[in-house]
Amino acid sequence: MMKVDVLTLFPEMMDGVFRSSILGKAQEKGIVSLNAVNFREYSSSKHGTVDDTPYGGGGGMVLKPEPIFAAVEDLLTRTSAPPRVILMCPQGETFTQRKAEELAQEEHLIFICGHYEGYDERIREHLVTDELSIGDYVLTGGELPAMVAIDSIVRLLPGVLGNETSAVTDSFSTGLLEYPHYTRPAEFRGWKVPDILLSGHHANIELWRREQALKRTLERRPDLLEKIELTDQDRKVLKRLRQEKQESGR
Ligand code: SAM
Repeated sequence: MMKVDVLTLFPEMMDGVFRSSILGKAQEKGIVSLNAVNFREYSSSKHGTVDDTPYGGGGGMVLKPEPIFAAVEDLLTRTSAPPRVILMCPQGETFTQRKAEELAQEEHLIFICGHYEGYDERIREHLVTDELSIGDYVLTGGELPAMVAIDSIVRLLPGVLGNETSAVTDSFSTGLLEYPHYTRPAEFRGWKVPDILLSGHHANIELWRREQALKRTLERRPDLLEKIELTDQDRKVLKRLRQEKQESGR
């Protein structure tokens, strides 16, 4: 079973997310255990202080090293596998599907959620194995970013998703954006589902889906096409799509 601990000052933020949907089911199935730890409990001060003013002056409060080191070290006494200790911060490596796949191989993950101005630099230098950002913007705390990362990691664990293929074809898993989906009715307000999807011809449907995934990626995220291995057929399709785009002047 994968073990995930989240060090936070706001453990109640995790309650609904950890209990709901896929994360709730993954815990019921015994595939993952998700545990929020309030690192204020590891403060040695009688008021539970976890932050202090920055040396050198300036605004904002800085998270002190002692409670966070103590919390991680306590978790280490209860684990056999060396964990990945992941600091959520806007200065970290940008979280991607590849990183989710990599972290899904681990047995134990510890996420550290910051708040306030920042962390004492010694946490970054001497405690963590990874620093992750969920994008180039700043949130109030690391709780939402940690939940984003945990959700995308846990859904990759074997047995978590009912239909195993759904994670395999997801956007980014294949290196491309996913093809468009349709469901009943076959016609809605005059808008029809593409005939090919009603044809029952699975090989042709697969070809159509691959072409649609290439088209969508070319239109929205052409940068992704530079990073994946394309088949000869993909290259032919892309050449045609680029020509069509040029001819239509878009
Ligand atoms: N002063 C910090 C800086 O400029 O890098 C930002 C601190 S932010 C207000 C407080 C905390 O929110 C961070 O320590 C981190 O845990 C979390 N956080 C904010 N934005 C994030 C992002 N894009 N990705 C991951 N964590 C983020």
